[in-house]
Amino acid sequence: MKTDTKAEVILMKCPETKRIYGVRVEERQGDWFRTWAFPIEERKASHEGFDKTKIRGNLYPADEYNGCPYCKSVCYVQCSRCGKLSCWNSEERISCAWCGLTGDVSRIEDEIDVRGGDY
Ligand SMILES: [Zn+2]
Ligand SMILES: [Zn+2]
Repeated sequence: MKTDTKAEVILMKCPETKRIYGVRVEERQGDWFRTWAFPIEERKASHEGFDKTKIRGNLYPADEYNGCPYCKSVCYVQCSRCGKLSCWNSEERISCAWCGLTGDVSRIEDEIDVRGGDY
């Protein structure tokens, strides 16, 4: 049994509710999988250091991933300005829940580089 699974928690923000949530991610053979999303207070997330998490590589939803706790979306975008992750559940309108940037946010297809930082 392999028990050295590497797991981290990253933060995403839901544009619908303007609330953040934690997403537990697991590294499996060099790729990251989102396995569980849960609502969290910004202060607690900061206290736990979740806003400092850095991961790099592909980020896939695992089969068991439950999606955003608020809007249920399993898709996300990474903002081209602040680099943070937001839910994405609409074809037309893409917006960053963190800094409010709209339009110029690229949908993630493959590699991401989560840097953490202030929010
Ligand atoms: Zn959402
Ligand atoms: Zn942004």
